[in-house]
Amino acid sequence: MEQLKNEMKMEFQASSSNEGFARVAVGAFVAGLNPTVDELADIKTAVSEAVTNCIIHGYEQKEGSIWIECGIEGNRVEISVVDTGKGIRDIRQAREPLFTTKPELERSGMGFAFMEAFMDEVEVVSEPWKGTCVTMRKTIGEG
Ligand code: ATP
Ligand code: MG
Repeated sequence: MEQLKNEMKMEFQASSSNEGFARVAVGAFVAGLNPTVDELADIKTAVSEAVTNCIIHGYEQKEGSIWIECGIEGNRVEISVVDTGKGIRDIRQAREPLFTTKPELERSGMGFAFMEAFMDEVEVVSEPWKGTCVTMRKTIGEG
């Protein structure tokens, strides 16, 4: 089958009022792949977790921008969520289930665990005070 390619990029203000916009925008973009209801819900949840992390941790609820790049090739989708906030010092520790640096905000430390459960691959690149890029990949239609 022909491997169709498609791409989109967007930038929006890091505020929690845009979380819903981000998940719906990515959802609408990947809808072209004809995902199942479950696959679509998984992708939207993973995007929400990544975007929430940029807002809460990257910018600590202060001003900033979030970029999302989304690519589709054949039945594979790749989504990158990027901030230029405070970054992550120990990425391995940050990815551990239940690890959080904000217990006072009642975060449960499960965001990365959800991203990993709902997507096939999650890659985290981050540098203190430069920012964080989370890239997630998923193949649609594999049951
Ligand atoms: P939850 O997602 O369950 O509300 P959480 O956000 O603390 O809690 P994770 O999403 O798994 O849990 O993230 C783990 C930790 O990684 C965070 O507590 C934070 O220290 C760090 N982190 C994650 N994303 C970013 C980011 N974009 N910028 C800076 N630090 C981050
Ligand atoms: Mg989180």
